[in-house]
Amino acid sequence: MITLEKHLAAHASVNPGEEDAHLILCHCGTWFDDEGDHRAHVAATWREARTVREVEDLDALLVGTILRCGYGRVWEKLPGHRRFSGMEVGKDLGVPALVVWTPEDGAA
Ligand SMILES: [Zn+2]
Repeated sequence: MITLEKHLAAHASVNPGEEDAHLILCHCGTWFDDEGDHRAHVAATWREARTVREVEDLDALLVGTILRCGYGRVWEKLPGHRRFSGMEVGKDLGVPALVVWTPEDGAA
């Protein structure tokens, strides 16, 4: 799971050179006309990078990872195969789910 620090580095603005100085070049290679559009791109790519779309991908998450699932419920990954806090009969962890925090992010 990508951390915010690595995501911001991957989408930092790059000096596009004198000729294109009025434009913003993202480190990923995308061009923008203004800083607001670039900020929206960084936010959208961040959400996408932290979204789990397949149930199978839940297995790769570290124990302690906090998710907000497609049903609006919040879960913490526990040790064991697809075990999450608060799991009850009839309540599923729906994907897509957004990773809110992972131990890779550092101190919570
Ligand atoms: Zn980018």
